[in-house]
Amino acid sequence: MPMQIEAERLVNFRQQLMEWYELSHRPLPWKGEKNPYLIWLSEIILQQTRVEQGLPYFELFRNAYPTLQDLAAADEDEVMKLWEGLGYYSRARNMHSTAKHIAYERAGQFPNTYEEILALKGVGPYTAAAIVSFAYDLPHAVVDGNVYRVLARFFGIEIPTDSTEGKKLFNDLAQQALDATQPGRYNQAIMDFGATQCTPQNPDCKNCPLQADCQAFEYNTVEMLPVKSKKLVKRERYFHYLVIQSADKTIVRKRIEKDIWQNLYEFPMIELSEPATDFGDLKNAEFWNYLLSDCNYKLLHISRPFKQILTHQVIHALFFEIEILNPHLPEDSQFVVTERKNLSKFAFPKIIDWYLQDNSLYLNLL
Ligand code: SF4
Repeated sequence: MPMQIEAERLVNFRQQLMEWYELSHRPLPWKGEKNPYLIWLSEIILQQTRVEQGLPYFELFRNAYPTLQDLAAADEDEVMKLWEGLGYYSRARNMHSTAKHIAYERAGQFPNTYEEILALKGVGPYTAAAIVSFAYDLPHAVVDGNVYRVLARFFGIEIPTDSTEGKKLFNDLAQQALDATQPGRYNQAIMDFGATQCTPQNPDCKNCPLQADCQAFEYNTVEMLPVKSKKLVKRERYFHYLVIQSADKTIVRKRIEKDIWQNLYEFPMIELSEPATDFGDLKNAEFWNYLLSDCNYKLLHISRPFKQILTHQVIHALFFEIEILNPHLPEDSQFVVTERKNLSKFAFPKIIDWYLQDNSLYLNLL
């Protein structure tokens, strides 16, 4: 594969892609938007999120916080609650802190250069390129998994996208392929094309207008491209939640540690290196001793196993429902004692929401 792609092939690719976009683009609420705040909001929501999943959250945030100042002035728990279910919660925290930074330290002026936008918390090269090209028509090409795939297939590139050489090659190629006269529209086009036509599985090659010049189609390598050298090994974690009931009350806590789901709430949790097979496996844990060692309690139920797959981790969870017979709950700032019917007001990770949905009647949550 020559490193240098001939200018004519680049022009062909660009033209065909833009023609495809003319006919096939997806109407989305942030398209054509020029307000950098709303573009930034949509791009943060869409990081690691499918458009269909992100769309209602964008509407929710735009309605709740129509301006950057509104978001900056919001309470963090309220922002996290609105974000609930979208995952990758550090995005919400960074978004909120960036809104405050722009509102209070930059006098509300959204930055307007690639470098300044890249310096914002939670903004990487992809998001910075998207924002400056959409809001200010600056010629910066977006590069992400969609772009790697489209370029690798169309130009028949077998160099691994996650190698140093591959990253540089694809970044250079993406920038060369960019239509500098309409960078925002071009970036939208390649993103839409990768998401709807040249998809990871079952790309619609049969109806693809780029097919005649597509190297992967010609050499029957569509399924093999793009190439990745490393396979991600996910860390398995085993969470055991204590769902404590004392009359109509229960206990939750905020996850303040530097870990997944920071600032979300959870039931007191005991993490073990393997799943507990028995109630007794939990009895040496710190939370257990703190909450239950001086109590009369009764184990009511152990939930079915729940599993949540994150990018780098797989979380396995079991919920131990325990009734405290002599009502006694800790008065300690690390815990929040709440009525069970108020649990829906807290922002929980998805795995806890799934458990609560499963058990809402049983736990008298309604
Ligand atoms: S022909 Fe297939 S692989 Fe090639 S660009 Fe079109 S959809 Fe992608």
